[in-house]
Amino acid sequence: MRVSKINHQVFKGQNIDMHMHEGTWLPESTIYAPEDTFELIGKPISINIAGQQSIEEIKYSFVSNLDCMTFNDDNTLLKNELDGNLEMLAECRKHPQKRPYAVCQAGYGSAENIEKLLKENPNSFIGLKFHPNVFKQDANSAVYEPYMKIAEKYKLPCLFHSDKTGSYGCPHKIYELAKKFPKVPVILAHLGAGTDHTDAINVLLDSIETGSANLYGDTSWIDCKNPKMPTIKNLIERLQNTSKGDQTFRLLYGSDAPLGEFGASGKKIKGFYADNLQMLKNMIYGNFKEKAAQIADNICFNNSKILFLDGRITDMGKVTKLSQKTLITAGIALVGLAAGLTAVLKHKHNEKQLQNDNSAKNPYSSFVAQQMHIFA
Ligand SMILES: [Zn+2]
Repeated sequence: MRVSKINHQVFKGQNIDMHMHEGTWLPESTIYAPEDTFELIGKPISINIAGQQSIEEIKYSFVSNLDCMTFNDDNTLLKNELDGNLEMLAECRKHPQKRPYAVCQAGYGSAENIEKLLKENPNSFIGLKFHPNVFKQDANSAVYEPYMKIAEKYKLPCLFHSDKTGSYGCPHKIYELAKKFPKVPVILAHLGAGTDHTDAINVLLDSIETGSANLYGDTSWIDCKNPKMPTIKNLIERLQNTSKGDQTFRLLYGSDAPLGEFGASGKKIKGFYADNLQMLKNMIYGNFKEKAAQIADNICFNNSKILFLDGRITDMGKVTKLSQKTLITAGIALVGLAAGLTAVLKHKHNEKQLQNDNSAKNPYSSFVAQQMHIFA
């Protein structure tokens, strides 16, 4: 009946999943094919937000090639920095929905390889990806510095797998490195995988209060089986109320799919991807009242758009002459610039309300962490 259509308003949400993968992942003995990505994000996702149906689109997914993070038995890598990253770039050129990270094999590869890729394929890679635990290289080690210089030169965000305190990917070690390159956006993926996230979140907040590094965090595997999402809720509240104003632009929606329960491994749970997006948006709409729609749009789309895409030519570097396409691209860049300016003004304008800094450990995330294998 028509009445029911009115009662069940359908609205459409756009999202950027800034943390996805394809390729071979030995901890799960699985090869994730492009089809596994498209099974999750290749079609509209119907979810229920605050009692209303919403058709959600994953407008972009940012992917990295797991083949560059997987070792053979003889301690060689399945693919090197050139072959593996070019393979992912070629795949992304076929599907504009996907944008590639360049995986950096710090300790095994060379920053010169990455610079060669960036020079020969301008405006194609959206960021650099690091996994200190896979490569067994402490994140504060000098092996990362040549790569960070490249990130600074080409203005690329760096996605770091962050892990337990004291491990190779310890949030404090990543922070130490990021402080040496304060202009480079460094994203703490998972905000401390396999932990209750307290340490990584405190590092993120400290970097904001001291202004000593340009840190971000993604949402992957945080509260992923707890509909109340207490860790992310608490984090948003803390980011809203820093002494530097609203810093929620530093939180990015990312899934780490199709690993673990998302994907083709034996752990796969049907609908897990949609459930997680639904839980995140429901938690935001249930707790942040009139600001909820804006917060959800920012975390799930605008923050990544501004950080990774705006101000760049985003058509995989194919614009070579002043064409209609170029003009459209320039228009998008201008809109992006305006959006960025609006976001900055908004952050500055935010009231500086004192927060209740509740960083109590939550039992759910550590429970979930125990169920997980190694994340990428
Ligand atoms: Zn990952």
